[in-house]
Amino acid sequence: MGQITLNKVTKSFGEVQVIPPLDLDINDGEFVVFVGPSGCGKSTLLRLIAGLEDVTSGDIVIDGTPATDLPPAKRRLAMVFQSYALYPHMSVRKNIAFPMKMAGVSQEEQQRRIDGAAKALNLTDYLDRRPGQLSGGQRQRVAIGRAIVREPAAFLFDEPLSNLDAALRVGMRLEISELHKRLETTMIYVTHDQVEAMTMADKIVVLRAGHIEQVGSPLELYRTPRNLFVAGFIGSPK
Ligand code: ADP
Ligand code: MG
Repeated sequence: MGQITLNKVTKSFGEVQVIPPLDLDINDGEFVVFVGPSGCGKSTLLRLIAGLEDVTSGDIVIDGTPATDLPPAKRRLAMVFQSYALYPHMSVRKNIAFPMKMAGVSQEEQQRRIDGAAKALNLTDYLDRRPGQLSGGQRQRVAIGRAIVREPAAFLFDEPLSNLDAALRVGMRLEISELHKRLETTMIYVTHDQVEAMTMADKIVVLRAGHIEQVGSPLELYRTPRNLFVAGFIGSPK
């Protein structure tokens, strides 16, 4: 589970094509990082995969099922938003339970998944607090917990750490990498931060103006960047 294929996907806003025809294969369990400068289409691509935007043409296949016309809730993908997307008036427990409540998961099953997520994220002692009583890192972990309990085929992260300070960011990178190791679920992670890309990815997708400049492992891109743009972005000595 968690295999995602994009076939000749394009996206235009009005007359402006921000994603020219794009092909991409994401394998089951892979940690894939979309990297590229601001405005290159990283968020748009993630939102197309999530179903939060409709493709203009082309198609998306998730685990062998045509997904192009499926609404977000039917794609079994969980988008992790930045920690400020939590409900401030609800406890951590209720924040984490919210997507399950919407999906009609039984109370018993909700409890089981909340316990599992809290344990995985070291939040067991914080379930009755409100987001305002937590640190930035704890809030970010709650946002991830809310995704975990949906038991998705893949997690989609859009610059989840960009509003955390530098020290916290380092810790959260480790948390997310650890979670990936533990769950073995596909993760697609958007960042404009080269260090995040190089340290977290199995596979990096370098984007520029909506098209893919190069795809490869961090080491491949470092050793054999296809051009100066990739080299510059990855920090290769070329
Ligand atoms: P990134 O996440 O890499 O910074 P985005 O995917 O947000 O880039 O944006 C890619 C391009 O698409 C930008 O030129 C942006 O202005 C444009 N764009 C994104 N969303 C919309 C929208 N809803 N309407 C019009 N243009 C948009
Ligand atoms: Mg973006």
